[in-house]
Amino acid sequence: MKTGPELIEDAQKGRFSLDDFAGSVQHLQVQPIHVAALLGTLYARDPSSYGSISGPVLSIARDSGPIQYNGFVPSFTGVFDTSAEDAFVTNLLNAKVNHTAWNAPEIDELVQGYCSERFAHHHMAALLGAIMVQGLTTAETVALTTAMTNSGNRLSFPSLDAKGLVGVDKHSTGGVGDGTSLVLAPLVAAACDSVYVAMMSGRVLNHTGGTLNKLEAIPGFRVDFSASELEAILGETRCAIFGQTAELAPADKKIYALRDATGCVANDGLIVGSILSKKLAAGVQVLAMDAKFGNGAFLSDYDTCRNFAQLIVDVAAGNGMKARAFTTDMNEPLGMYAGNKLEVAWAVECLNGYHGDSRFMHVTYRLAQEMIAQADPLSVAPSQLRYLIGGHTVPGRQTPYEKFKAMVTAQGGDVNVGGLGSLDPDNHTRMRGIPLQRLAAQRCDRYILRRLNPQRTTHLHYVTAPKFGSVSECGYVTSFDVKQIGDEVHRLGDATNPDVGVIFTRQRGDLVAAGDVLAVVLHDGKTGNPEAFGRYIHLDREPPKDEPLIRAMISPSQQ
Ligand code: URA
Repeated sequence: MKTGPELIEDAQKGRFSLDDFAGSVQHLQVQPIHVAALLGTLYARDPSSYGSISGPVLSIARDSGPIQYNGFVPSFTGVFDTSAEDAFVTNLLNAKVNHTAWNAPEIDELVQGYCSERFAHHHMAALLGAIMVQGLTTAETVALTTAMTNSGNRLSFPSLDAKGLVGVDKHSTGGVGDGTSLVLAPLVAAACDSVYVAMMSGRVLNHTGGTLNKLEAIPGFRVDFSASELEAILGETRCAIFGQTAELAPADKKIYALRDATGCVANDGLIVGSILSKKLAAGVQVLAMDAKFGNGAFLSDYDTCRNFAQLIVDVAAGNGMKARAFTTDMNEPLGMYAGNKLEVAWAVECLNGYHGDSRFMHVTYRLAQEMIAQADPLSVAPSQLRYLIGGHTVPGRQTPYEKFKAMVTAQGGDVNVGGLGSLDPDNHTRMRGIPLQRLAAQRCDRYILRRLNPQRTTHLHYVTAPKFGSVSECGYVTSFDVKQIGDEVHRLGDATNPDVGVIFTRQRGDLVAAGDVLAVVLHDGKTGNPEAFGRYIHLDREPPKDEPLIRAMISPSQQ
């Protein structure tokens, strides 16, 4: 039996079944918001056959007893309209079906009216259903973003404005082993004096990791601040990573919850509006966007990802924000550690000059360059970023790692944390000059356990290369099932247990012999399935095709 969102997703694909619907209604899986979103979907897919399907849908729903479908009856023909709000929504639905774009005042009235409860959930649900089928134009998405931004407060930092500082940020559509924010924020703030990085970040979403979950692996690290607290932190460090507050873009919070409850999340315009309204409300003026494609990306197909990237930079421009996007490959974990505490450890190593040639740092440098170049084109040359990360000190300037530690301290975190041994790698890997990844490959359990888990509660599972057959004992790492890896990391307890995760010791294209360690899984011995990781790293006798990590940089269509 299907849930409400599943019935709606079926309808989006033209697979709606009245029998499924009746079964779900009987089992109380269907609420009024589902009926409204369903009818909006069916109407937008085929207005000519809508009358013949809406009648049975409504009578099954009405006969279901406990669920009351009183008030607005979404016939969308005008016949059942009862109030000014019903008529307004019906007009918008008819316009969407007739391919007439909604204008900005209409969109603003809808969004503000939904926040003030003038429009009910079922009004918005019916419109979301139609948007999922007919989409939003770029102009409609610009207006939706503006309206959602204006639904709440905007963060402002007058003391930073008075110094002429520009608010910069980055956003990623999410991946595995992608903790670039942890390196970017301090790197950009350390390199460029004319910007501040006010990075409003999220928590774990589907198979991808959440920046806030990672940082919360540092004991004491706080992510909830008032505007004045943030201003004080930014005044001191010019970088902060924090969570969304209730006052910023409340329309996004309310609409996102309804999208989630009605199977209406996966629409480019809705996603762009959701992402950008939060950034605009946080006072961001310059954005670098990392749009991922590949088997670990939320938009796996390259062309879809590119179109999404174009939309987001255009909608940002339409709202007065400078933005550029990169389309980047997520067919392989970006960094070589995945898991909350591990990704903090990776970031610390990167900030101290390890992994300088890694895919992770390649993307990080490009995003940092673009954040800085859009804000203050002449301020920092790309080579200076590498110079700073390389451990070189510049008199009077904090290094990126010092900036990171200043940010962690300002946000209440303990830089001498027990769980990580110490954030400072000097005591551990640097003295020996061996990053964790290599230690793992060399099976140096002692070091990993001491550094990451002094209580010795972490178990290790080694994923090794199988035999290649009798002819050759060598082969190449050809691909990773990244989404599966992300899901499996979460099954180890990632969101709540910071100690678990995976260290990948090999990358795509590496030559390996049977028995070589491909990855080391850190687990608690109880949760998840460490052995499953072996299924998600594929080997072959032939090397894989070389694929560029960053496929394109996307600028706004009209500059
Ligand atoms: N992230 C967001 O902030 N909003 C969406 O709609 C999807 C991802």
